[in-house]
Amino acid sequence: MRMAVMGASGRMGQMLVRLIDESDQATLSGAVERAGHDWIGRDLGQAMGGAARGVVVTDDVAVALAASDVIIDFTSPAVTVALAQAAAAAGVAHVIGTTGFSDADLAEIAQAGQTGRIVRAGNMSLGVNLLVTLTQQVAAALGADYDIEIVEAHHRHKVDAPSGTALMLGEAAAAGRGVALSDVADRGRDGITGARVGGAIGFHAIRGGDFIGEHDVIFAGAGERITLRHVASDRALFARGALKAALWLEGQGPGEYSMLDVLGL
Ligand code: NAD
Repeated sequence: MRMAVMGASGRMGQMLVRLIDESDQATLSGAVERAGHDWIGRDLGQAMGGAARGVVVTDDVAVALAASDVIIDFTSPAVTVALAQAAAAAGVAHVIGTTGFSDADLAEIAQAGQTGRIVRAGNMSLGVNLLVTLTQQVAAALGADYDIEIVEAHHRHKVDAPSGTALMLGEAAAAGRGVALSDVADRGRDGITGARVGGAIGFHAIRGGDFIGEHDVIFAGAGERITLRHVASDRALFARGALKAALWLEGQGPGEYSMLDVLGL
């Protein structure tokens, strides 16, 4: 399968390039960076500090789409929304790892998924997606007299909060309780907040150092607490999930899928 990497110089982009190179089911068909990036026009292998490999980094998405079966995209929301439309129009599948979307962005991606083939996941790891299903089950079993708090920690460079994964976990908890997350989310308390509102789902974000990604879902009741925890210790985890999603999309019809679909959860 021919795969192009968007944001090829990024933390996830470089990881994906290495993983595609190791795969016997995938070949790297393009490497895209933002206009003005100093890798544009350079050989990707050399830009990554190795030998030349004959893939030149481009800012021309159309060139990458024309050469590819799928685009893997860990960039930023505005870039991803535009790419979703372009990929659907070109008949190229789109794996979206980007996080931090607004509701309007999500509506545009859903629109692209009417004709295009998309996997979008705020977290591509098997463990986190299992945690999502467990969170929904525990939230349903415990009911609203257990307070739910979601605490996440990421590296100092992360630009959005709460993390896409924290929001996935919040959605799962809300679904387990049969409520809409937008009605109950309580993001980052500060000051004289008053007592906790019953049924709220709280979010808290730690930022610092080189945390790759940690998530706790705490169910705090009277006299007991349950914590579901996931710790990512290697960023390659997310890249492996994205590669799996890309290969899975080959056999699918149009739609916007999640990692739960890819993993059969
Ligand atoms: P990063 O800043 O290291 O990489 C992003 C790259 O995108 C940069 O190299 C940037 O130059 C490039 N870019 C910006 N505009 C572009 C454009 N128009 N065309 C092509 N490339 C462009 O960030 P990162 O840590 O790799 O994370 C990227 C995104 O992926 C974030 O939203 C992050 O939250 C998300 N993420 C998701 C998962 C997951 O499992 N879903 C895991 C890790 C990170």
